[in-house]
Amino acid sequence: LVEPLNPDPAGLFESINDDDRAHWNRARGFVQDEVLPVIADYWDRSEYPLHLVRRLGELDLLRDGINIDGFSAQSKLAAGLVMMEVSRGDGSMATVIAVQGGLALRSIDLLGSDEQKARWMASLARADEYGAFGLTEPTHGSDSVSLETTARTEGDTFVLNGHKKWIGNGSIGGVTVIWARGDDGQVHGYLVEQNTPGYTGRVIERKSALRAIWQAHIELIDAVIPAENKLPGGNSFKDTSRVLLATRLGVAWSALGHAIACYETAVHYAKQRIQFGRPLAASQIVQERLARMLSELTSMQLICFQMTARDEAGTLTSEQASLAKYTCTRTARVIAANARDLMGGNGILLDNRVARHMADIEAIHTYEGTETMQALIIGRSITGVSAFV
Ligand code: FAD
Repeated sequence: LVEPLNPDPAGLFESINDDDRAHWNRARGFVQDEVLPVIADYWDRSEYPLHLVRRLGELDLLRDGINIDGFSAQSKLAAGLVMMEVSRGDGSMATVIAVQGGLALRSIDLLGSDEQKARWMASLARADEYGAFGLTEPTHGSDSVSLETTARTEGDTFVLNGHKKWIGNGSIGGVTVIWARGDDGQVHGYLVEQNTPGYTGRVIERKSALRAIWQAHIELIDAVIPAENKLPGGNSFKDTSRVLLATRLGVAWSALGHAIACYETAVHYAKQRIQFGRPLAASQIVQERLARMLSELTSMQLICFQMTARDEAGTLTSEQASLAKYTCTRTARVIAANARDLMGGNGILLDNRVARHMADIEAIHTYEGTETMQALIIGRSITGVSAFV
């Protein structure tokens, strides 16, 4: 196991208070002791380590990693640090936090009734039950606003029909927040328990990224749910977007964690790998590459800290959240590629960490709004013209 390096050239981490540091340390203990020793094997076998998901709940990291006002006790900075640290260990485990906590739990918190909150929130936070967020469809990804799944009113029930794709936790039992078009043509959120007749979740196989968590293809054929399972606050796509906006910054922190894992592995490797009779680290060009990686890493740290400070102050805009995700996932991609190359052939071995992170970054580059969609949101704010109406 590589010891954490804590790269901090701008001194940002020095100022973290004890409380936030305690959350971060709990995540670090989980990563070092429980995730890193086993995760490459799960990733390789494409198995979902549900015992680690349960540990995320037991250690309160599902709640810590998302920050919901009035529900999570910690600051938004602590939530970011937890996301960063868990991603430093493994992208699939960070995705559990993003999906079960950041999306499913948050939908219920932001848009649910008191009864729905009482029924689900604590249970999902502890990982006693599983939560999923079903927005994307096979034919609607970036334009999920055009989704086609329907929820027809029939007496005091809703009847759901349609397909969802890429839904993390969508096939392991639990509850899925399904976004569907109601009789009024608007997008609404519905809590659909996965044992509902007519709900089928099939694991998407042969993925090349995030192989230690399962995403599902969901089929809904006349799945009947009681009227009280509709989220009362989810009445148009604007409400869906409120949930999505809140999680975008978490993906930026996640990218930072992936990049740190790649950087610290590359530094460690460069110091101990001998070629031409001396460590790689002694060559000027290797030092220049490490310096470049550190410089890129620092720009990610600065943007994460600053945007989180704005989030804490309640002044974070949608464009700023997009700028953070856009900058961090594309920079993490560059750092991972550099680290992989620095390690030569060993860079493609799963046991050496970097290849797994490199693959996983591809998924976070795409989910919760692709790089291009983030660029178009930023571009709209620069020009005043939307290029994706
Ligand atoms: P498309 O929308 O088809 O995009 C393909 C390419 O076209 C991209 O490069 C995109 O940027 C580009 N593009 C699209 N529109 C434009 C445009 N107007 N102009 C220029 N370029 C454009 N969804 C959920 O609901 N719940 C989940 O739990 C979930 N988990 C996921 C986990 C993983 C591992 C992955 C890969 C995806 C997950 N998703 C989930 C879905 C994810 O949010 C979508 O994959 C994402 O929104 C992109 O949609 P798409 O894959 O259909 O790509």
